[in-house]
Amino acid sequence: MGNSVRVRIAPSPTGNLHVGNARTALYNYLFARQTGGTYILRIDDTDAKRSSDEDIEGVLYSFRWMGLDWDEGYEAGGDCGPYRQSERLSLYQAHVEELLANGHAYRCWCTPAELDVLRKRAQQERRPFRYPQTCLLLAAAERAARERSGAPYVIRFLSPREGTVDFLDLVRGNMRVDAAELDDLVIVRADGMPTYNFASVIDDSQMRISHVIRGADHLYNTHRQIPIAFALGFDLPAYAHLPLLTNPDRTKLGKRSGAVLVGDYAKQGYLPEAVVNFLALLGWNPGDTQEVFSLEELVAAFSLERVNRANAVFELQKLVWLNGVYIRSLTVPDLTERSVPFLAEAGVIAAENVDRTYLQDAIGLEQERLKNLAEAPSVLDFFFADDVTPEPKLLVAKKQTPADSLSALQRVHEQLALLASWDHEPIEACLRGLAAELGWKAGQLFMPIRVAITGKTATPPLFETMVVLGSERTLTRLAAAIDALAADIAE
Ligand code: GLU
Repeated sequence: MGNSVRVRIAPSPTGNLHVGNARTALYNYLFARQTGGTYILRIDDTDAKRSSDEDIEGVLYSFRWMGLDWDEGYEAGGDCGPYRQSERLSLYQAHVEELLANGHAYRCWCTPAELDVLRKRAQQERRPFRYPQTCLLLAAAERAARERSGAPYVIRFLSPREGTVDFLDLVRGNMRVDAAELDDLVIVRADGMPTYNFASVIDDSQMRISHVIRGADHLYNTHRQIPIAFALGFDLPAYAHLPLLTNPDRTKLGKRSGAVLVGDYAKQGYLPEAVVNFLALLGWNPGDTQEVFSLEELVAAFSLERVNRANAVFELQKLVWLNGVYIRSLTVPDLTERSVPFLAEAGVIAAENVDRTYLQDAIGLEQERLKNLAEAPSVLDFFFADDVTPEPKLLVAKKQTPADSLSALQRVHEQLALLASWDHEPIEACLRGLAAELGWKAGQLFMPIRVAITGKTATPPLFETMVVLGSERTLTRLAAAIDALAADIAE
């Protein structure tokens, strides 16, 4: 027997996916996977001025990047299509006719300018604006004249005026508003396009959506959609409204809050696993102290009962931490493949003929320290640079003179060049021996070597780095550093 759980994510195609919508998508996905239900993708594009296929692709890219595949809907197909609202206009039209015929909707010829005057007046009188039903109350002859005139009109839903609109939210419990608060919503605009609230109700019914799971910013809409559903004789889905996302200072997470688009996190080198894990914890609590969850673990652990009512605070530090956890958990070949686009983009490597073994060895050394993939170019560049041009003063050992540092580096070069095998132990034995011979602390000797071969003072462990660089690169760089220091001393 088929499972009756059917949920949907219904993005408006804006070219980008906001993290709030990504979180909503994830919760729908988890709920569907956990219940063996169907996860549907619909494109809500009737409110958009103009939405191109590219805008849609931008949104879909982020869903795919997060690994949230949909079973039915746009591009996937299914028996409730089309799944793009702008292709469903004739379906909406039939319901508009029905509502007009049974008196649940009416035409309104009020112009935007006329409505503006009323809106301003309401504002001055500090009361909420409600459409005064001017066109509903027109005398029959007047209405007939307007209909004949061909003047542009919108279609409004006649909202109930009495009683309450109630529903039981799976997260928030009983939700009620007084019908007196509702307005006669525009359901079809002057250009003939249905509005979101109208199209959504029809689609949710025709697509047999069992649970509408969406952000609490839609509570307002839900109270307006329910009377429309009743007027059309539809059964209601169950509703679950997810907590709003806020900044740590409790302000609404918005454009000014830094990156709020999933694509930006991808560009900043966050792994999809970390983003998914992070979003899962934004409004849902597992009920224990576990914080690291794979997508499969989330499917098993998730429940709507554990979705919080309180706003969820977006703590970027948590994402940074999770990203490190996931980076360290990857195999080196996997981390390498994920880093390649960043390295190529920064010009550190040429994506085509790069020595994969060398690249993997280098990345393996950085794996512990790497916080995100976007850092890869700046921490790995020295492995691929033709020369590293260290600053001469950084080649001077601590508490030693430039001249002594120079002869120490010369000894290092001589001794290393004699090594029979280029491995960790012989290199380490050689350099520690030299430090002892010079009467230096190991660190005094190692820092100038580090700088000479990498150009940096902070790198992965020295001997491992030298092994990966190989004897040829190491010795060439040491020789160049020696020349640079000698020239600096001579000046
Ligand atoms: N297109 C709406 C949005 O992106 C869908 C809301 C809903 O789930 O009904 O917010």
